[in-house]
Amino acid sequence: MRDFVFQAQTSRVIFGAGCLQHLEREVQLLGAERALVLCTPEQLAIAEQVALMLGSRAAGIYPKAVMHVPAETAAAALQEATRLRADCAIAVGGGSTTGLGKAIALQSGLPILAIPTTYAGSEMTPIYGITENGIKKTGRDARVLPRTVIYDPHLTLSLPVGLSVTSAMNAIAHAAEGLYAQDGNPIMDLMAEEGIRALASAIPLIKANSTDVEARSDALFGAWLCGTVLGNVGMALHHKLCHTLGGTFNLPHAEVHTVILPHAIAFNAAASPVAMKKISRALGGAPAAQGLYELAKKNGAPVSLKELGLAVSDLDKASHIAMQNPYWNPRPIGMDSVTAIRRLLQNAWEGVSPVDSLS
Ligand code: NAD
Repeated sequence: MRDFVFQAQTSRVIFGAGCLQHLEREVQLLGAERALVLCTPEQLAIAEQVALMLGSRAAGIYPKAVMHVPAETAAAALQEATRLRADCAIAVGGGSTTGLGKAIALQSGLPILAIPTTYAGSEMTPIYGITENGIKKTGRDARVLPRTVIYDPHLTLSLPVGLSVTSAMNAIAHAAEGLYAQDGNPIMDLMAEEGIRALASAIPLIKANSTDVEARSDALFGAWLCGTVLGNVGMALHHKLCHTLGGTFNLPHAEVHTVILPHAIAFNAAASPVAMKKISRALGGAPAAQGLYELAKKNGAPVSLKELGLAVSDLDKASHIAMQNPYWNPRPIGMDSVTAIRRLLQNAWEGVSPVDSLS
């Protein structure tokens, strides 16, 4: 057994099909009486349902969450929370909505109650991101970790199959990188392996029937585990590449994770054999990188950056940015890695099998 440090992060989790019914009790437990409900414009109906359930405890709805939390949106949402004298923010939606709640909490210290409807996992992390002048700044702050999280699989039944698959792959990416994290620990390893197993087994069932509540429950359970891993240990090359591609070229978050993951895992395979064994076991025995590639491909997810609209001429810039600011990776990234990173991106752009990344 290796030495490790484990710091528990406290949030209260309510899990189960139909558990949104406990919302008012949970808001009361937070001591809140004026909740501001946050959502994207597309999810206004569910936000209205949440506000209705809260009755007089709902102070209002702010339905303007968008991807990557623009600073202006964060400022306007905070202003609305202040105007309404809100004493809590309820984020109902995916990572974009949770991110808006975190931006409010960062400035005001308001408690956040998150009701996740995708598998992105932001609700379990103290990580925030705010985009200003086209640059997304991220940081960690204990104030932004949601105090309460209500995981109700019923709310994920409406998530389109395509986004369900890519969002699940996004969650798997947190666990896969968590398994070779520099500051990893055995508790996170258990959660990561089980998280991958739960999501990988749920994906084909959701593809076959998007309203399969049992499969949706397994996927959301997996998302919770993988999000917890993301919140507890450091990430490496895969997350750095996705951050670069998403931020600089405005590519969709979950899809980029889906395309890059098999190639980043192949890149790191030889340097982290124990993690590969655990990923492989969670996937039912397939080699880690190949198994992840097949999982995405067989379930209709994009497997190439080309499909996501990235121009081949952007790959040099992407690999250059990915090399900036030194960061830890199990296979060290140094100036001599340029060619290997560029090849990884070329393979991801073409969508070829990740085994090729090792050649
Ligand atoms: P998202 O929140 O942007 O949602 C994508 C779209 O799906 C939106 O239009 C949303 O309204 C819709 N949607 C969400 N749930 C739905 C449902 N159940 N039914 C129908 N439509 C639904 O996407 P995401 O992938 O969840 O989040 C991505 C963002 O979260 C990125 O900005 C990413 O950087 C951030 N993120 C942050 C962390 C963190 O720890 N800070 C972790 C993961 C992701």
